[in-house]
Amino acid sequence: MAPLSVALLFLGGGFLFSHPKNFPPPEDYLAYHEIVECAGLCVTYFGASTILISDDKNSILIDGFFSRPSWFELAFDKISPNEDRIKETLACCVGAVDAIFVSHPHHDHAMDVGSVAEKTGAAVIGSKYVGSVAKAGANSEVKFIEIAAERFYHYGLFTVSAIETPHSAPVAYPGEISATFSFPADVSEFKQDINYSFFVEHPALRILIVPSANYQPGALRHVSADVSMISLAGISTRGAEFFDGYWAEAVRGRGSGLVIPIHWDDFTQFNSPSLQPLPYFADFIITSHVRIRSLARKDGVDLKYLRPFHRHVLIKKEGVAE
Ligand SMILES: [Zn+2]
Repeated sequence: MAPLSVALLFLGGGFLFSHPKNFPPPEDYLAYHEIVECAGLCVTYFGASTILISDDKNSILIDGFFSRPSWFELAFDKISPNEDRIKETLACCVGAVDAIFVSHPHHDHAMDVGSVAEKTGAAVIGSKYVGSVAKAGANSEVKFIEIAAERFYHYGLFTVSAIETPHSAPVAYPGEISATFSFPADVSEFKQDINYSFFVEHPALRILIVPSANYQPGALRHVSADVSMISLAGISTRGAEFFDGYWAEAVRGRGSGLVIPIHWDDFTQFNSPSLQPLPYFADFIITSHVRIRSLARKDGVDLKYLRPFHRHVLIKKEGVAE
């Protein structure tokens, strides 16, 4: 191969494995102040779709993924919950949890839930195969509740419901999880199963969480939210029409005054408290941001990112402010 071709290949490869710089844009972070008390709802973002939502008495966790194995481990090794990382994150920023609502069994959503449930005292709520992953990741019996349609889950002032919505396309690892699923496991063993979005209602605020970036028109029609937290992962190549439909279903149609993108980070890096966006070979996250930013401006909706590992207070004002 000619030296020029080698150089171009090297540069091209280097670019694809690099991360977009200055993302999220600093001006797009939700304002943050040290919090003493939770005068509304407290929300902490840990990357991917892992979000802690609390009031002064109760806490619920969406997903609960802290191990964040590297691209190398995902490609060439089997993975297991990283107990040190889980303990470190729980000690820093989580505390007791009432319930973990898990969107689907892929590793970046579900691999740690058994261990996290065991350490926080939480029940795990998800599809049948989330139950298999949770059981495999815990040393003791974990309370598991399989999601039932049109059921509401109550924890203190929280009411949570799960709505089946499609996983982002193309589907990774379809099929059924083995009855003998155990750790360590290959990433391909975390089968997709049913995917859920979650609607968290609280007297202080109503939050819709869409952990996987796709939509079925009308699936969320019963939801009226103050805040929509929507995944950006894997949709940069879907085109403007898809974004319009996703926005209409997850934000505009729900009446949300604030949209908070989630699942924009490189979920193979454990570098709290800062997260890097997905590298170029995995996604063009800036493209997704520009499209969402434009739709937010058009509809007069606030678009803000949460500083990872920082506890933000969300309260209802005219619209929603921090
Ligand atoms: Zn997934």
